[in-house]
Amino acid sequence: MATSTPLLMIPGPIELSPGVLAAAAAPPLGYVSPRLIEAFGRSIERMREVWRSGPSGQPFILAGSGTLAMEVAAANLVEPGDKVLVVNTGYFSDRMTAILRRHDAEVTEVTPRVGEAPAIEGIREILTQKGPFKALFATHVDTSTGVRVPPEPLCRLAREVGILSVFDGVCATAGERFDMAEWGADLYFTASQKAIGLPPGLALMVAGERALAARDARKNVPPLYLDWEAWLPIHRAYEERKPSYLATPATSLVMALETGLAEILENGLEARLETQARAAAAMRAAWKALRLRAVPKTKEVTANTLSVLLFPDGIDAGLLPRIAARGVTVAGGLHPTVKATSFRIGHMGYTATRPDYLRRTVEAVAGALKESGARVDPEEAVAALESGLAVPA
Ligand SMILES: *Cc1c(COP(=O)(O)O)cnc(C)c1O
Repeated sequence: MATSTPLLMIPGPIELSPGVLAAAAAPPLGYVSPRLIEAFGRSIERMREVWRSGPSGQPFILAGSGTLAMEVAAANLVEPGDKVLVVNTGYFSDRMTAILRRHDAEVTEVTPRVGEAPAIEGIREILTQKGPFKALFATHVDTSTGVRVPPEPLCRLAREVGILSVFDGVCATAGERFDMAEWGADLYFTASQKAIGLPPGLALMVAGERALAARDARKNVPPLYLDWEAWLPIHRAYEERKPSYLATPATSLVMALETGLAEILENGLEARLETQARAAAAMRAAWKALRLRAVPKTKEVTANTLSVLLFPDGIDAGLLPRIAARGVTVAGGLHPTVKATSFRIGHMGYTATRPDYLRRTVEAVAGALKESGARVDPEEAVAALESGLAVPA
């Protein structure tokens, strides 16, 4: 049953690739070390590729968690009294609203039922009739519901009505398609420990020209550490491979970032996205074989980076220690509506490239279900996974 190395299959932090692990584990470099500067500069360049932001996108790499990126978004883009719209698909959208309110924004939320994404027409109606709005905020994949919103129509709508579009990609970036330049998104941010596949500790974001201009036009300056204008010269210097300093970067994590982004881009971003999509489809086939239902209501709104599943009748969170006893850690429910009735399995980033990790996870879930009295066939679930993984791209 339990294998020697337990697998961490929660929606972040995730298992690391050997290359990332080695890069993160080397003795820390100083912030003016030429090697660190090179890694920082390359990471900036590679972020533009992973974000598909084009040359005008401005990456920022800050020490902090994903919530810091949310704070930075609000601090640079929102002034007291600004009207903003939050597309609320779960727990992290709730957090975005809370942060925006602390910045004295006037927040309007569009909140569909749990497991659904809102219709674009309803959002258009609010934006055109209850405005003027400054920005639209959406969570690309909400980690509490497993719901993925369609960013492209939201970006295009925001452009059409002349407002900014901001996406929390913390559970999505590098795992779900996002074409920042082509769709015209203004800000897309993530954290290092999710689909990017590093240890926790970096807030990563790319701001477009309109977002930077919105910061420029502010009456009041944001807190220093959150301020894009304070960080711009630092990031420009690093990109020109020159030393610079505002606050000490997380140098070990920057070394890991250089490697992690290179691995994501190794065969092209498209190949990574396809591997991720195939892994997710195979996991869904396994859940179906186990007769597990998911919280997202349709295929269109179901994320590829994680599965948010409902416990079958008669089974509760007591399932989780039984999964853990099989050497795989998964996460409990997070969204208040399904906190006691759902559990969450991350399958993003490096883990999506490892069929053996996926198989161990399916085996652990199937075995734990069977032990809990569910009438399931673990072999059928593994076979469903494997035929899903064998589907050509
Ligand atoms: C994890 C997560 C966050 C918060 O990131 P932290 O690193 O925990 O601060 C925000 N948004 C989404 C969608 C997430 O999945």
